[in-house]
Amino acid sequence: MKLKRNFPTVLLSDISNLKQLFSNSIIEKIIFNGNSYYVKRDDLIHPVFNGNKARKLFFLKDLKIKKIISFGGTQSNMLPVLSFFAEMKNIPFIYCCKPISTFQKEHPEGNYKAALKNTAFKEIPHEDWQETVKDLKAASLDNDGLLINQGGLQKESEKGLKLLAEEIKEWAEKEKIEDLKIFLPSGTGTTALFLQKNLNFDVFTTPCVGDKEYLTKQLLEVEKDLLKHPKILDLDKKYNFGKPYKEFFEIYRDLKSQTRIEFELLYDAKGWIVLEKFRESIGKNILYIHQGGTLGNESMLERYRKLFS
Ligand SMILES: *Cc1c(COP(=O)(O)O)cnc(C)c1O
Repeated sequence: MKLKRNFPTVLLSDISNLKQLFSNSIIEKIIFNGNSYYVKRDDLIHPVFNGNKARKLFFLKDLKIKKIISFGGTQSNMLPVLSFFAEMKNIPFIYCCKPISTFQKEHPEGNYKAALKNTAFKEIPHEDWQETVKDLKAASLDNDGLLINQGGLQKESEKGLKLLAEEIKEWAEKEKIEDLKIFLPSGTGTTALFLQKNLNFDVFTTPCVGDKEYLTKQLLEVEKDLLKHPKILDLDKKYNFGKPYKEFFEIYRDLKSQTRIEFELLYDAKGWIVLEKFRESIGKNILYIHQGGTLGNESMLERYRKLFS
């Protein structure tokens, strides 16, 4: 099954009115394995510029910057979103990453492929990686350039996530749901943290990169008060980030066939396994945040096909 993507011709005016785009993110009621949930469709914001990455980059929209620099993996969900944003702004985008294999260059897929057109990849030798990241983080780039931290873990990200919180609040009031619980899977935890800071509803999350201690440590970098952190749930089984697991594919496939919604394979798959396990103790009105990122599914599905076909 090859996912077909038509890259949209989007006008700059489309993303200059981000609030308008955010209104594409509706809240739907779904039934999955016999239980009902609400889903906030941040994947519908825009075909490329969507999900929590779009929310995190909201603060950029009014800045007059001449280039964007970032770093991370070539299959990071942040990569195509940043690349697209730079393209719309007509500014260069430099992305530091570890060496890219010849095979990947000859067979580009997923997020890497989506970003190729407007990204200057700067390959850093493995042995220099740590040092480069340290330098990048420490560099006080002049007004012309802007550094976006890996995964958008930075306080400016709160601006767009606050809008997400407001949309949820408004909806809950309209629907008269007072005991709403929010659930979303975490990488850096930035999204879950800023949602919890801006909502009176309890926010639950699960770590997809590293364990509970690692996630707590990340959150403490931004918020010292543990009481303001989202509640972290986890499984006994440890999953390595980015690795394919049969149960991840199965829940992705079941979600797609039962709800017609394509969820993401790295974060949402684990998210839904955890949510199903803790569903009863969380509460009866659960809102799952779809954080976009499905462009990256293409390369993961290819790996699943090879492994389990
Ligand atoms: C980036 C991403 C996350 C992780 O977001 P954090 O704010 O770093 O926790 C979760 N889900 C999807 C689909 C993502 O692309």
